[in-house]
Amino acid sequence: MEIKITLPDNSVRQYPKGVTAHQVALSISEGLARNVLAAKVNGEIIESNKPIDADSNLQLLTWNDKDGKKTFWHSSAHLLAEALEALYPDTKFGIGPPIENGFYYDIDLGGQPLGSEDFEKIEQKMLELARQKNDFVRTAKSKAEAIAYFQEKGDEYKLELLEDLEDGTISFYTQGNFTDLCRGPHIPDTGFIKAAKLMNVAGAYWRGDEKRKQMTRIYAITFPKDKELKEYLFLLEEAKKRDHRKLGKELELFAFSDKVGQGLPLWLPKGAMLRDRLEQFLKKAQVKAGYSPVVTPHIGSKQLYVTSGHYEKYGKDSFQPIRTPDEDEEFLLKPMNCPHHCEIYKTKPRSYRDLPLRLAEFGTVYRYEMSGELHGLTRVRGFTQDDAHIFCRPDQVKEEFEKVIDLVLYVFKSLGFKDFTAQISLRDPENKIKYIGSDEDWAKAESAIIESAKEKGLSTVTELGEAAFYGPKLDFMVKDALGRSWQLGTIQVDYNLPERFELEYTGSDNQKHRPVMIHRAPFGSLERFIAVLIENCAGEFPLWLSPEQLMILPISEKFADYAEIIKQKLAEHDIQAQVDNRDEKIGRKIRDAEVKKLPYMLILGEKEVETNTVSVRKHASGDQGSVTFDEFLQNFKNEIQLSLGN
Ligand SMILES: [Zn+2]
Ligand SMILES: [Zn+2]
Repeated sequence: MEIKITLPDNSVRQYPKGVTAHQVALSISEGLARNVLAAKVNGEIIESNKPIDADSNLQLLTWNDKDGKKTFWHSSAHLLAEALEALYPDTKFGIGPPIENGFYYDIDLGGQPLGSEDFEKIEQKMLELARQKNDFVRTAKSKAEAIAYFQEKGDEYKLELLEDLEDGTISFYTQGNFTDLCRGPHIPDTGFIKAAKLMNVAGAYWRGDEKRKQMTRIYAITFPKDKELKEYLFLLEEAKKRDHRKLGKELELFAFSDKVGQGLPLWLPKGAMLRDRLEQFLKKAQVKAGYSPVVTPHIGSKQLYVTSGHYEKYGKDSFQPIRTPDEDEEFLLKPMNCPHHCEIYKTKPRSYRDLPLRLAEFGTVYRYEMSGELHGLTRVRGFTQDDAHIFCRPDQVKEEFEKVIDLVLYVFKSLGFKDFTAQISLRDPENKIKYIGSDEDWAKAESAIIESAKEKGLSTVTELGEAAFYGPKLDFMVKDALGRSWQLGTIQVDYNLPERFELEYTGSDNQKHRPVMIHRAPFGSLERFIAVLIENCAGEFPLWLSPEQLMILPISEKFADYAEIIKQKLAEHDIQAQVDNRDEKIGRKIRDAEVKKLPYMLILGEKEVETNTVSVRKHASGDQGSVTFDEFLQNFKNEIQLSLGN
C-alpha cells in the first residue's frame, strides 16, 4: 500500500507504507540522507528509522534545524553518560537535557572530585565510543522491569524519575554498553558525533531543590564536524572580548556604583558623548519624519498609572509609591512614557485634520528588576527609551507603519546592522475574546502591518497569538557580527490606552471618534542599544558616532601650538579631537592611539607646519599620506555622510 508524504515545500511524494524518514531522504539524495538526524512527522519529532504508516507531513531534520540540534545534543548526553560510566563505574545519573548551546548531565560521583583537568580524558572517551557508531536501540519496558534494572544498578535518581512514569509508557535506550531510561528520539547512531567539548562543571541540586542532594552538573557541547567546534570556541572567545561590560570599562563609557544603586548606570564623559550623538542623530531623523519633541517629568501621580493600567501591571514589581506631606498624594517613578503623552494629546480638542500627531521623547523610565536579573546595560533599573507615540485615524495606520519601518531601517543602516528579521505578532484567531478593540479594527491593523512589512521588503516571521491584548505588533530581531540575535526596535498598535484615557477626535462626519495609538522605539532603549552596538562593533564605533574621533599627535613639544590650532579648527566643525602632548616618542603615541581604537590620527611635525598640512593615519589601515587641513576636513565629512547612508 502507498502513502502520501508531503514535504515542507508542499511537494507530495508516494512511498510504500512503513517508509522511514531515512528512506525518504535517500530517494531525494544520498548526501541529504547522510545528514538526516531525525524527522518531524505531523509536528512530532521521531527517529529517522521509525516506519511511517499513514499520509503525513514530513520535515527532515538536519544540523541546520533547531530540533535537529536538540536531538543531536540530547543523544550526545547519552554518549557523555556512557563515557562517564566507562571511566567512573559507580556514577549515578540524574537528568541530562539539551540546552541552548549543547547539553548537561547531572551526576552523582559518590563524592569523587571532578574538575577541568579531567575534561580531556572524558572527551577522548566520548569520541572513542562515538567511533564505534553504535545505534540507539529502543526497548519498551514494563514499570516492574524498569524498576528492577535500576535497583540492580543502584541508581536512586532514575528510580525516583520512574515513580512519575506510568506503566506502558516506559522505554530504555541502549547504545554500546550503556542503557538509559529515555523516551527518545535520538540520532541514528553515535558516529554522527565527531567533536565533543566539556565546557564547565558546577553544583546543582537534585530536582532544583536545595534541600536535596547536590549533584555535579557537567556542561558539554558536541558537533557533527570538528571544524564547527573550532568555530564555536572562536565565537565564544570573541564574545568574551566584546562583552560590553568589559569594553564599557576599558573605553570609559559607563560605570556602576553600589552607592548609587544596582542597575543604575553612570554615563562617563565619553559614554555621554556617544549617547548624545545617538540622540541627536535620531532627533534629526524624527524631525524630518514629522515628529514633535515633548518633555515630561520622571514621576507621575499614582492615579495616572491606575488609569493607564500600568499600576496594575507594574505596581508590585515597580518601585514603591513616593508619599508627600499632602495626604492622599502618591507618585510613582514613571515606568512608561505613554500615559504622559496621552495627557498631552488631551490638552486640546483634536480634529481629523490634526492627525497623525507624533509625539517623541527620550523618556527615562524606571522599573524594578530583581538584582539577580540585572546584567550590564541590557537589564537595568533606569533606562531611556527613544519613545514616541503616534495618534492617528484607523485609516492612517498603514502609512504610519511604513514611515516607522523606514526610520528603523535608516537607523539600522547607519549603525551597520545588516542582518535582521521582523517578527509580526498577531491575534490568536481561536481566542479573539482575549483582545480588546473591535474585530474590524484588528483586521485592518493586522493587514496594515503585514502589507507594510511586505512592501518594505522585510524578511518576516509571523507568530499567531503573540500579540499583546491591546494590539498587534512588529518587532525587529537583529543578528550581530557573531550571529547572536537581539530584539531591538518595536512598533506596536494600541486600542487600549485611547479607550482608558477617553481620547477623541472630531471626524469629517462631525462625530467623536477614538484615535489609534502606535508606540514605537527604533533603539528600544539607549542602554540596551548601546550594549548591542558595543558588542556588534567590538568597540570600534562608526566614525560619526565615535566619542573620540581623532587624536592629534605632535612629534615634539615644538609643534604643540600648531596642534592646538588644528584642534580648535576641528571643534568648529563638531569633530572631537584630543592632543597627545606627552613627552613620548611618536611611535609610542601612535601605538597607544591604536589600542584606544581611535578612528583617525593626525601627525604634526616640521614638514606639516611648513606646508600647512596634516599627516593622516587611519585606525587599522595605517599611513594615508599628507593633505591640507581643508582636504582632510572634506574627506572626513564625506566619510561620515557615507557611513550615515545619506
Ligand atoms: Zn535519550
Ligand atoms: Zn508607549
